[in-house]
Amino acid sequence: MHIDIDKDVCIGAGQCALAAPGVFTQDDDGYSTLLPGREDGAGDANVREAARACPVSAITVRDSTG
Ligand code: SF4
Repeated sequence: MHIDIDKDVCIGAGQCALAAPGVFTQDDDGYSTLLPGREDGAGDANVREAARACPVSAITVRDSTG
């Protein structure tokens, strides 16, 4: 799994960090960022929920293809 956060789109709503606190956090400016070592989602099923929860669709989740 590969997670992209479009920081130009992110408005810092924090829904991603609420939905998947094991993967997303917020940086000093309040924008979404990935926790160190969790760039691949770490198998966390909440990642897709976080992407859905984002009000501006800033999160893109892609399945890795082998
Ligand atoms: S839910 Fe979307 S807008 Fe809110 S912090 Fe996360 S990526 Fe940014």
